[in-house]
Amino acid sequence: MALDEVARKRIESATDEALQEMLAARADYLPEACALAEKLIADRGGVEAAQRRIAESKKQEAEEAERRQVTERHKAEERKIYRCPKCGGELDLTDSSNKGPSKSLVGAAMKASVDILSASFHCKTCGPIKTEELSPEDQKKWAGEKTAASGCLVICVVGIILLLLLFGLVVSR
Ligand SMILES: [Zn+2]
Repeated sequence: MALDEVARKRIESATDEALQEMLAARADYLPEACALAEKLIADRGGVEAAQRRIAESKKQEAEEAERRQVTERHKAEERKIYRCPKCGGELDLTDSSNKGPSKSLVGAAMKASVDILSASFHCKTCGPIKTEELSPEDQKKWAGEKTAASGCLVICVVGIILLLLLFGLVVSR
């Protein structure tokens, strides 16, 4: 029985791996199909080359998965997730100031900064967590965030003072 056109096309477009699998279970296939698979493997550089390509693509997949994992981790870091030192759960950041939403942009920036500076951590299962109890990495992350927040606050305050000075100059004229 000859191979029909559809089957031939399918075998011809099969991956190296699929061809290998086909030949490993050759009893399930027509002799013509197996012959075609063998010919294709030979045309593509032989069994060894095919196996090398398969190993190569597996390695690439593994590397890709690894890269994805690293990206995920980075994303988690960017989202500023802090872990509970006791149970490993995600900590909530609660701010003690809890003032109403600010209307102006500068006010919002200042509020965000103050919130960070006065915030504390809270674990759903273990309760409040002191910053000293955080893991060394989280403490470092937290210190960086606090520094950024203080910087933002200073810039806001300086900006407001400058604006007031400028306003004073305009009014006194
Ligand atoms: Zn906890």
